[in-house]
Amino acid sequence: MGLVVQKYGGSSVADAEGIKRVAKRIVDAKKNGHQVVVVVSAMGDTTDELIDLAEQVSPIPAGREFDMLLTAGERISMALLAMAIKNLGHEAQSFTGSQAGVITDSVHNKARIIDVTPGRIRTALDEGNIAIVAGFQGVSQDKKDITTLGRGGSDTTAVALAAALDAEVCEIYTDVDGVFTADPRVVKKAKKIDWISFEDMLELAASGSKVLLHRCVEYARRYNIPIHVRSSFSGLQGTWVSNEPQGAQKVEQAIISGVAHDTSEAKITVVGVPDKPGEAAAIFRAVADAEINIDMIVQNVSAASTGLTDISFTLPKAEGRKAIDALEKAKGAIGFDSLRYDDQIGKISLVGAGMKTNPGVTADFFKALSDAGVNIELISTSEIRISVVTRADDVNEAVRAVHSAFGLDSDSDEAVVYGGTGR
Ligand code: ADP
Ligand code: ASP
Ligand code: MG
Repeated sequence: MGLVVQKYGGSSVADAEGIKRVAKRIVDAKKNGHQVVVVVSAMGDTTDELIDLAEQVSPIPAGREFDMLLTAGERISMALLAMAIKNLGHEAQSFTGSQAGVITDSVHNKARIIDVTPGRIRTALDEGNIAIVAGFQGVSQDKKDITTLGRGGSDTTAVALAAALDAEVCEIYTDVDGVFTADPRVVKKAKKIDWISFEDMLELAASGSKVLLHRCVEYARRYNIPIHVRSSFSGLQGTWVSNEPQGAQKVEQAIISGVAHDTSEAKITVVGVPDKPGEAAAIFRAVADAEINIDMIVQNVSAASTGLTDISFTLPKAEGRKAIDALEKAKGAIGFDSLRYDDQIGKISLVGAGMKTNPGVTADFFKALSDAGVNIELISTSEIRISVVTRADDVNEAVRAVHSAFGLDSDSDEAVVYGGTGR
């Protein structure tokens, strides 16, 4: 039996009962003969609560201190989990990200893993321990400061450790039975997917399906680590994410994998931009220099009478303030009239490799939205995805409409959500 990495999300360890339940599961894997490395998230909504607390003290907290604060959440759950396992008569040791050898760059709040040196984890395993690692955190290579990997980053910790330790599988335990054709909190008739390719999962994750983090899927694809997403509350088989389906996972790749939605983004419109070469470059240079990732962009046709145009783009709400400040600072040099900020938007995306060869998909997608009375504000496409921005209030209705229109509704059991607050 080989080594498995198991990751338990915050909803799986929300309280003492949850920690004891998870401890039992981990011990079962060990009893089955596996070497077990566990990556654990902060309990329940602890990270959100710590963020709220920081914002009450300082509107824009310093990155270094913010990371120091947030990593405390995972420290609590890792120590409690190790205690609960010991209480069941098995040996366990907990490790911070830094102790586990998770080395990152020094971009606070969204650091990237650049190396994993899990010497201490290996030793702990060789000595017969279950190793518990705090997710979502590392230590910067140059300054040796504590960093965090961005929201949901424990998924990435798990896959990175699985790659470094040559694990046979990375199991992601959460509060639903796997990856569904849409978020089961929004679409009761969503279907569980038995197997999905890295490619489609990457697009779903990038489009807001937070069941797996985008960077984690990227990492898994690069190192070819199969991921098994499943519930920590049931014994059911979940969803396999890999290059090729194996054995029992053998299913036809669907034309459409699923519908994703995201309400974590905002839209900035730069109003009155001179319609001449170099303007877009200057705007997006200012935003990039502030280390902000943008998503969709649209430039309107300029009014012939004024020679001015508007440029809109979307970005994570959490970076809205920073982007506005950066653009205001560069206003003189760029020469636009004003900025508009709108955080009442939502994004809906349809994902599937079959889109490449089915030209009707885009038209059907727009028809479903129009039948549901949903107005489209921005559009973007890739080879295997089409996304639109709408009003935030329309998002849930739009997701359900598109899910039905593409025949994805299940006619059997409703999807189960076992825990979590959906925050
Ligand atoms: P964890 O605490 O385990 O990290 P998350 O809240 O990050 O859990 O992710 C699980 C949640 O992802 C589910 O409860 C569900 O609401 C949401 N989700 C969004 N899209 C999907 C999808 N396509 N399939 C399954 N879950 C999804
Ligand atoms: N606790 C962190 C968060 O809530 C990391 C994680 O759960 O993956 O974002
Ligand atoms: Mg998560």
